[in-house]
Amino acid sequence: MVNPEIEKRKTFAIISHPDAGKTTLTEKFLLFGGAINTAGAVKRNKANQSSTSDFMEIEKQRGISVATSVMGFEYNGKRINILDTPGHKDFAEDTYRTLSAVDSVILVVDCVKGVEEQTEKLMSVCRMRNTPVIIFVNKMDREGKDAFDLLDEIESKLNISLCPLSWPIGQGHTFKGVYSIYNKHLNLFEPDKKKISTPVIEVNSLDDENLAQFLPEKSLTNLKEELELVEGVYGAVDKEMYLEGLLAPVFFGSAINNFGIKELLDTFVNIAPSPKSREAEERVVLATEKNFSGFVFKIHANLDPNHRDRIAFLRICSGKFERNKFFYHTRNNKKIKFSNPMDFMANEKSIVEEAWPGDVVGLYDSGTFKIGDTLTEGEKLQFKGIPSFSPEIFKEVENRDPLKTKQLEKGLQQLTEEGVAQLFVMQPGNRKVIGAVGDLQFEVIAFRLEHEYGAKAHFRMLSYTRSNWVTSKDPKKLEEFLKRKQQHIGEDKDGNPVYLADNEFMINMTMRDYPDIEFHKTSEFK
Ligand code: GDP
Repeated sequence: MVNPEIEKRKTFAIISHPDAGKTTLTEKFLLFGGAINTAGAVKRNKANQSSTSDFMEIEKQRGISVATSVMGFEYNGKRINILDTPGHKDFAEDTYRTLSAVDSVILVVDCVKGVEEQTEKLMSVCRMRNTPVIIFVNKMDREGKDAFDLLDEIESKLNISLCPLSWPIGQGHTFKGVYSIYNKHLNLFEPDKKKISTPVIEVNSLDDENLAQFLPEKSLTNLKEELELVEGVYGAVDKEMYLEGLLAPVFFGSAINNFGIKELLDTFVNIAPSPKSREAEERVVLATEKNFSGFVFKIHANLDPNHRDRIAFLRICSGKFERNKFFYHTRNNKKIKFSNPMDFMANEKSIVEEAWPGDVVGLYDSGTFKIGDTLTEGEKLQFKGIPSFSPEIFKEVENRDPLKTKQLEKGLQQLTEEGVAQLFVMQPGNRKVIGAVGDLQFEVIAFRLEHEYGAKAHFRMLSYTRSNWVTSKDPKKLEEFLKRKQQHIGEDKDGNPVYLADNEFMINMTMRDYPDIEFHKTSEFK
């Protein structure tokens, strides 16, 4: 059964190591989609990389990132939803969660820097879900690595097969344009930051005599040789393999110069998957099912401290979402309806009456939602797919104002439910330990505890750098392990036991000593 509302939706994220050009590319897409009129309209949603303790900066970013969390627009009869992800590595968990709500991604690689640390991490998260990936090699106007070397590097570091659909002619100061292998046309480079049309020359074959007037002979000869090699090495694009996440089409261009973007967008719209099925703990849910279902992948606190309301971002997985209709909150076992659900079309918030699989709606929330919560029309379902990863920094929370203990508890609970960091409770004494990827997260927590909850906390550094979720087929053995290792055991937000260790060596030793215990690097082990 084909539902045109589902078929027309393409929900994806643009991901990259900071500075590779994610924001610039997003902006150019919005420009093509007519969602914005001028370049420079998309605010840069990233904390200043150099100053990690600028709270105002963080606060400003929070304001911006509500506005840019989801950017929807129409293009070629499709509805495109771009989900924004924070660039700063300290907020990587937020990005990972957003990746659970998309159907595909575009990965931006800087041709000068190649594959960077964050690129690898993001890609490994995509692999967990077999998310289809298109790669955009950016900044071809700069002197970067050789295209073949770059592809080798991407293939080996990201562990994915590639298939170039466009090919660069020169690079840096000799950059002449790209040849579209997919559409068989030549796209000549003309640096221009504002315009959105680029001169395209259709060619039937590269032996076309007219080509000489556009390209110097040497460039043309090189191009022909390289294309022969490309064809021999990479072959034709296999759409099925792309959809299974095994093969990534590659495009070359320059986002800032608006070059190579249209090919990328047109091909994306053509081949990227529409919403398909999603796995819940209980069963696989098809996008085409009649009944509505969806899950919360992100919670955003409002900036106004006087109104403690938050916005929960719900990804719709099946059926139709409707305003003012009662839906079933499966964790709370309650029915709720939403009178002001928000839509993010054309970069503006507005009240939405109905929404379809692939769409993201913003729900005003006063504390009913946790990340990962599922809504349905009555069926007991819990969508899979938002694992927690091991934090790298662990600090114990010390209360600095005993009169505000309640506020502190509430603040910690809500902030960790929002996904700012992970909370572990340790015994004896119900000690609270916060696990995070970067120090910036602790600063955000301290700042928000004080300003939003009136509580004061100090964080005491612990020696742990790893957490492993532990299970065993033998409940007795697990109980014994937890007792023996009590000083290393914390309970995560769902009450699952977690083994905290100083380093990998310690984990390996413990694994050897307790062969009946299974250790998991992420919370998703069912
Ligand atoms: P993000 O951190 O991945 O969102 O990266 P931005 O989009 O903010 O880009 C980082 C920097 O690279 C900015 O100064 C951009 O102007 C610049 N940039 C983006 N695309 C290009 C490009 O195609 N060529 C050049 N030379 N610079 C670019």
